[in-house]
Amino acid sequence: MYIEHQVIVNKFNVLLITSVYIGANFRIYSIITRGLAVFSDINVKVIIGLFCVSVLAFLSHRLGIVDTSYPIIINTIDKPKVLINSMYTDSSLDESDGILVECKLRKKEGYNFCGVGIPLTNGARNNGLDLREYNRLSAVIKYIVPENNAKLKISFRNFNDHYSNLVDKVSLKFNSISFNPNLHELPIIIPFDALQVDNWWVEQYRIDFSDSQVDLSNVSYLEILTDGMHNLGDYSIEIDSITLYGQLITEANLLKIILLIWLITVIFLVTFQHNILKKMSITDSLTGLYNRYGIAIWTNKKILSNFNRHQLYMFYFDLDDFKKVNDTYGHKVGDQLLIGFSHHVKKYLDSIENIQFKFARLSGDEFALVIYDLKENQIKKFAASLLGIIDSPILLEEHETYARASLGIAQLNQEVNTFDELLARADSAMYYAKKEGKNRFKIFNETVSQDIFFRKQIAEKIKNAIIDDQFYLNFMPIFDAKNLNMVSVEVLLRASDKTLQCIGPEVFIPIAEEYNLIKNIDLWVIEATFKQIKKELTVLKVTPIIFCINISAVELHNPHFVQKLIELMELYQIDAHDFELELTETSLVEADLMSVSTLQEIHSLGVNLTLDDFGTGYTAFSQLINYPVSCLKIDKSFIDNLHSADKTKSTMIKAILSIAESYNLKTVGEGVEYYEQYSFLTEQGCNMIQGYFFSKPISWEVLISKLNDPNEQKLRLEKVNNFSENFIK
Ligand code: C2E
Ligand code: CA
Ligand code: CA
Repeated sequence: MYIEHQVIVNKFNVLLITSVYIGANFRIYSIITRGLAVFSDINVKVIIGLFCVSVLAFLSHRLGIVDTSYPIIINTIDKPKVLINSMYTDSSLDESDGILVECKLRKKEGYNFCGVGIPLTNGARNNGLDLREYNRLSAVIKYIVPENNAKLKISFRNFNDHYSNLVDKVSLKFNSISFNPNLHELPIIIPFDALQVDNWWVEQYRIDFSDSQVDLSNVSYLEILTDGMHNLGDYSIEIDSITLYGQLITEANLLKIILLIWLITVIFLVTFQHNILKKMSITDSLTGLYNRYGIAIWTNKKILSNFNRHQLYMFYFDLDDFKKVNDTYGHKVGDQLLIGFSHHVKKYLDSIENIQFKFARLSGDEFALVIYDLKENQIKKFAASLLGIIDSPILLEEHETYARASLGIAQLNQEVNTFDELLARADSAMYYAKKEGKNRFKIFNETVSQDIFFRKQIAEKIKNAIIDDQFYLNFMPIFDAKNLNMVSVEVLLRASDKTLQCIGPEVFIPIAEEYNLIKNIDLWVIEATFKQIKKELTVLKVTPIIFCINISAVELHNPHFVQKLIELMELYQIDAHDFELELTETSLVEADLMSVSTLQEIHSLGVNLTLDDFGTGYTAFSQLINYPVSCLKIDKSFIDNLHSADKTKSTMIKAILSIAESYNLKTVGEGVEYYEQYSFLTEQGCNMIQGYFFSKPISWEVLISKLNDPNEQKLRLEKVNNFSENFIK
């Protein structure tokens, strides 16, 4: 992202504009969120679809749409029928209109029969038709016999080897029913359930119990014949039609199949959903890249696999000044930039041959790239080209946008065994890249490692100092620029520990912030200051001064800070006007809704706020109105370089003072060491002066004695006068 600071200065006005060029319309939406919506939609559609199909199948079955029929007479017209008769029967067969069998029984003896065998196949006895899909038979049969209640027998015959007696080889199985056709209405419906295996067959062949069950799996013949002929005379069997009816599939089987399909579908959908969830759990929903969890799994797997460890590198990115984009242009624009950035980098990585990589968004504007297959001597070149690619224009909605990032790089080696350890190293290296001035890369090395060790040690010392109460306070006077009266003091932290003393708060306070120790320190400073104020109330009543207490930016996100402050104010009976809080301007650069609301809560207590180190952040002046601050403290760096040949610093100071005046804000010039700095600031209308020129930080005792000394102010005025005279000479 390209951020341009335009400082337009004229006599009356100063404009500090931070502008970021980003397209206005956004069409790229979260891939995964969309994907997920579609998938869950598919789930619902599949279930509804399957439900409809199941109901339809069931209804069609009930309505007989899947019924099947087999008209035996028609289907066997070309198959020669077999006349069944016996010795004393004169029989004839006429097939001209249906089947007509006529018999005359001359003598009753033994087995007398009259009937017809209809072959269902072309004579192959062993290979009959499978009639199991039929469940009933419909027949139109006229039966004329010389006796009452004469029965007719219909049999489906099987000729399988299985049903043969191995000795005589003539076995056949009769699945039969005997009935008097004349007692039924036409057509006669015979359910197959009513069929039985003929007793004589069961007895004669001494077969298994299971063979005595009806079996229609291979029927070679259908036989229709008299079930005994008890009277002499004419018998006739006229068969107009015989049709088998059934269902392609039984209802029970259909239900079983439907159930099975449901089961398979549910298993499929659950697996499908599981895979999506698994994918989601490792994917960043905004960019579609891996998320932290995903890349950690991949990297840890890779680390455990057998490969050349020295060729695996972690690149840890952090977009420079991304928070400013979010704050200034809103989260939508910020999101678009993140998506554009990730696609831009991914495209570049995809274009490189012979490398394996995984690119992930860890959180916010932090990305991690794990690369495998890079040689040590390629790293710097690769990092530089990566930064170059990042710096090249990103196309967002046809608008060109720029992003910049700081890169930290760490190599996998014997000392590093997990993704987290690798990331910690890359993170530390990135911290250095940022410290060294952003838009650059840093490879984790011995120096970085030693620095981490050093910071850890310092953090340990800070912890001990908190526990052992080894901190104390100094106070640095701040004077009214016009009359040089001491109006306030800045409370500064000091430690009795030798190392902490040596490095000073400038070094150890950021470490305390890094190691999350700052909240204890801030509260300790506030309480210690309040204690002192309460102790010296009589002196302070006579010569009142304001105590300016520094607090860390962290407190703006500390939900307990304001409550603690109120409790301490009540405990030590401190008035809101007795002290002020100083916050660095940079802490507001990252200010979000929570920070602003904390600031407002502090303000509503009546406590004034000063923006410290002003000019080093990027606050657009127009934004100042949104923050409840009452004072700007111009950063020491501007004052240090006030009289250098470069006039930008003095121009900046003038600009700040002018805008502060128009916003009705008080101003402090900090770090005033020389008379020239003092006189410039005073001339330009700076309200208050702080610096070694008048006083270094002093102890509480010295402060009280100075407050009690009526000559103090006079001495300062004399000092200024002396300088002024010398200066004129
Ligand atoms: P700061 O808030 O900007 O404090 C001003 C620093 O500039 C102090 O250094 C002060 O001694 C120094 N200074 C002021 N005028 C001059 C001058 O004319 N010449 C020189 N050479 N130095 C001058 P100190 O006390 O070392 O503090 C450094 C930083 O440590 C502070 O910068 C502040 O950010 C942090 N700090 C100090 N005390 C506290 C504290 O109680 N709480 C928190 N949160 N931070 C603190
Ligand atoms: Ca300060
Ligand atoms: Ca300062």
